[in-house]
Amino acid sequence: MSPEEFRRQGHAAIDWIADYWAGLDDVPVLAQVAPGDVRRSLPTAPPEAGEPFDALLADLDELVVPGLTHWQHPRFFAYFPANSSPAAILGDLISSGIGAQGMIWATSPAVTEVEQVVVDWLAQALGLPEQFRLTDHGLGGGVIQDTASTATFTALLAALHRASGGSARDTGVGATKWAVYGSSQAHSSLVKAAMMAGLGSECVRAIEVDPATQAMDVRALELRLADDIDDGWTPVFVQAAVGTTSTGAIDDVQAIAEAIDGTSAWLHVDAAWAGVAAVCPEHRDRILAGVHLAHSIVTNPHKWMLTTFDCSVLWVQQRAHLTEALSITPEYLRNAASESGAVVDYRDWHPQLGRRFRAMKLWAVLRTYGLEGLRAHIRSGVDLAAYVEELVADDERFELVTPRSLSLVVFRHVGGDEPTLAAMHALNASGVAYLSHTVVEGRAAMRVAVGSWRTTRADIDRTWAELQRVL
Ligand SMILES: *Cc1c(COP(=O)(O)O)cnc(C)c1O
Repeated sequence: MSPEEFRRQGHAAIDWIADYWAGLDDVPVLAQVAPGDVRRSLPTAPPEAGEPFDALLADLDELVVPGLTHWQHPRFFAYFPANSSPAAILGDLISSGIGAQGMIWATSPAVTEVEQVVVDWLAQALGLPEQFRLTDHGLGGGVIQDTASTATFTALLAALHRASGGSARDTGVGATKWAVYGSSQAHSSLVKAAMMAGLGSECVRAIEVDPATQAMDVRALELRLADDIDDGWTPVFVQAAVGTTSTGAIDDVQAIAEAIDGTSAWLHVDAAWAGVAAVCPEHRDRILAGVHLAHSIVTNPHKWMLTTFDCSVLWVQQRAHLTEALSITPEYLRNAASESGAVVDYRDWHPQLGRRFRAMKLWAVLRTYGLEGLRAHIRSGVDLAAYVEELVADDERFELVTPRSLSLVVFRHVGGDEPTLAAMHALNASGVAYLSHTVVEGRAAMRVAVGSWRTTRADIDRTWAELQRVL
């Protein structure tokens, strides 16, 4: 592709994206294909001779788009949003164009230093305690990772390093019986982290929750910790959820910190979805209560904060726990800057070596929308969810299952699991909207997770009208 051709096709690709967004309102939210349809429509072997880029765009429309579930659709209410946005896309594109590998400071200093600044801006924007920020005199800092799952795994490795007195990285997890704690509503990535760390899924304790709020029962945590310690277990990692995936429940981080005080456990806060709402002062106290007592916290700008997947930020109070657990320097990466100690080498802050310039898209988001724009976006999601909550309350056939959490509404049909799931499946099949389900205290519920950057009140009305029609 010549430079001129690249310019021409680059414009065409951006036009394609703008047209794709403009047309979303009129297409079903859910993919309209059966297993294997997309695969069968594509050639079984790559082309011998290169093809014009237009041919790829044409196939995109014809073969790929029908097989997409449209995450940027204004009536996508399933799971949690994965906001893309114009500014993030352009930032991401520039990152691809630069194509730098920021594995260590020396391989591209600006990649590391822009990330340090942007991650610190985000810490300020959310009002995170000072200890998590990268300052000249402090011990903390933040890093962009691909996902919250990786961040949680990384935090667990740091916790093992710390609790083992540094031996875990060299001699492995050993004969110690390590125990990991989260509520029964903790994200599955906690169990996966324990599996990947070689601790095994069975070391993870699923602590009961309060049936009404779905937040961790901290008294139950205390009892389990005491029993485990009596039985020779060593608590290594406790995860508090600030905004669970199922219902948006918020654990009492302060009480959890007090419960584990005196043990060797690391306290990690999983605020993957809800954390970014702390950009609004009215949500900050609730989201950050007790967070100053945590060793680490993760939140995902790639969910509700307009930063095209993937972009997850992990902050720690002591960056040395990460670097001591994960640093390993082969000869070919030795360099004067790293040895001087004057720079940060982010490859020591996560499992992988190579890393993209992800800070570009987060920088673009923060600068283009500003904190005012981000607050307006979060508030719009919360307001629309409050509207959904009213619609549920005004319809006697439905009931809320848990109190609305920020922009997440969990409700069900009063007739039970069968009508609840039937209504949700019929709504999804209509193509008008897409909701996902959960199970709360053994009973099925549907979730409306608002927060797309393209959703308006009219989209809620249209969804609600369709739900009435299919009942
Ligand atoms: C989405 C989510 C995760 C996992 O996020 P990834 O970035 O996809 O790994 C973890 N915890 C909570 C509470 C979540 O909502």
